[in-house]
Amino acid sequence: MIQLAELQFGYREGDFALRIPKLEVQQRERVALIGPSGCGKTTLLHLIAGIALPQSGRVRTNGVDVTALDDGARRDFRIGNIGLVFQEFELLEYLSVLDNILLPYRINPSLRLETPVRERAESLARQVGIGDKLARMATRLSHGEKQRVAVCRALIAEPELILADEPTGNLDPANKNRVLDILINYAEEHAATLLMVTHDRDLLGRFERVIDFKTFHSGERA
Ligand code: ADP
Ligand code: MG
Repeated sequence: MIQLAELQFGYREGDFALRIPKLEVQQRERVALIGPSGCGKTTLLHLIAGIALPQSGRVRTNGVDVTALDDGARRDFRIGNIGLVFQEFELLEYLSVLDNILLPYRINPSLRLETPVRERAESLARQVGIGDKLARMATRLSHGEKQRVAVCRALIAEPELILADEPTGNLDPANKNRVLDILINYAEEHAATLLMVTHDRDLLGRFERVIDFKTFHSGERA
């Protein structure tokens, strides 16, 4: 669940400004976020995940006020609660596909890496069509393959909230649908919330709600 109120954000550098009076996404809701490049979609996901902090306003994610947490607590909260598919994937290039998918289990001491988890990683990889590349180093993957590794990694620790930043942006139509199927099936099976940034208008029909960024005020700082 996501609740934003009276949010104001600007980067230290540059004059981009984002103002969101109110935004709520209920638990189990599947929402697409659309808007032109540069309007602040990635920034908004980072605010929800506690990667960025607003200058004012409130961000409650899964019932926790992330703006009230210190850096370490925000990081722990993120790792424990949120499956993030970064726009730039953020894979560790010197690790294999399997180890990248399992990364949440290596950085979160409260998660135990046992055999069923490895099996889940393999199963997720098969479902997105990279099951034959588990041992491959991340540097030796195409963009579309990296993107699918990032999707598997976001789901491996069974988060309640998935924030996916253009997760189908580098994929052909067949793989687009395959990745979206996995995200939506996951959300249904785990009663999870899915907030996905996308430019693919043909995918919008699969969401319960579409939020168009133009309903917010974003642009140059006043
Ligand atoms: P979108 O994801 O909708 O394409 P972003 O959220 O990435 O947009 O960026 C919104 C605006 O903020 C853009 O104008 C971008 O140039 C600017 N921006 C993004 N990251 C930073 C940063 N770290 N520092 C300063 N400005 C940034
Ligand atoms: Mg973006």
